Amino acid sequence: MSTCRLCAHAAAKGWWGPGARCGAHCGGCHRSWTAKAECHCTTCHRHFANYSAADLHLRTHGGGEQVEHLDPAKLRDRNGRAKLTADERGVWHQFKGERPAHWRGAA
Ligand SMILES: [Zn+2]
Ligand SMILES: [Zn+2]
Ligand SMILES: [Zn+2]
Repeated sequence: MSTCRLCAHAAAKGWWGPGARCGAHCGGCHRSWTAKAECHCTTCHRHFANYSAADLHLRTHGGGEQVEHLDPAKLRDRNGRAKLTADERGVWHQFKGERPAHWRGAA
């Protein structure tokens, strides 16, 4: 039984309906978001400012067969600095400080 109005609408009508101001809603944690650039992980339900920030919390094993969802709060670069920081809405952003050079090449 779903108590979420948006999910109930989606199940019945196949879209999120006018109640979703934007277009994106997660059926797992019932978060809605408006910014198209934002990226929601539908597995661990963390929310990221963009895809490159989201990529940082994923670690693949066995040639991509298994994907591990890491805790963004625990991600550190080799210098011990946080890779991701959360804003007041709980959205994870890439740390805006000094970036290691190799980040630029990584999509
Ligand atoms: Zn919902
Ligand atoms: Zn995740
Ligand atoms: Zn979710």
